[in-house]
Amino acid sequence: MKKVIYPGMFDPVTYGHIDIIKRARELFDEVVITVAKNPVKTCLFSINERIEMIRESVKGLDRVNVDSFDGLVVEHAKAIGAVGIIRGLRAISDFDYEFQMALMNRKLDEKITTIFLMPHEKYTYLNSTIVRHLAEFGGDVKCFVPEFVCNKLKDKFPLFYRK
Ligand code: ADP
Repeated sequence: MKKVIYPGMFDPVTYGHIDIIKRARELFDEVVITVAKNPVKTCLFSINERIEMIRESVKGLDRVNVDSFDGLVVEHAKAIGAVGIIRGLRAISDFDYEFQMALMNRKLDEKITTIFLMPHEKYTYLNSTIVRHLAEFGGDVKCFVPEFVCNKLKDKFPLFYRK
């Protein structure tokens, strides 16, 4: 029974994240999406909102669960019996940071392996920051996020809502 965790802020979850979740699910028995409670950056959505949006987005997928964490990812992985950490790699720009994180995490716990997965090409330019900015200025985000998330963004930005 091989379990992996997929940690991140998911502010909000996008089709890029969902693509990675589905790929991880093909490879492992259980994928736990682990939402950072107190990320370094300030989030648009609260921890409960981010969890709710992910739960809604993966509700048809068995063997995919959602939880949250505060602290070190490797400690959380160990605590829930995960063998690895899933990270998505979009472009070269992700590589440097992800490489440092993976090496640091390995130093912290040799047994927890970081696994990088690439999304479909159509999601390589997609990130949550772009989605938030688009929504803030009334852009159409429905091809980037599930409908439930789209509606949550509408609630946050009245300008977008008027569209
Ligand atoms: P981001 O703001 O970059 O979406 P997250 O903390 O939510 O940041 O990302 C969590 C993980 O998901 C990271 O490994 C990140 O590289 C990956 N990820 C985010 N967006 C995508 C995408 N469009 N395709 C593949 N991986 C992604």
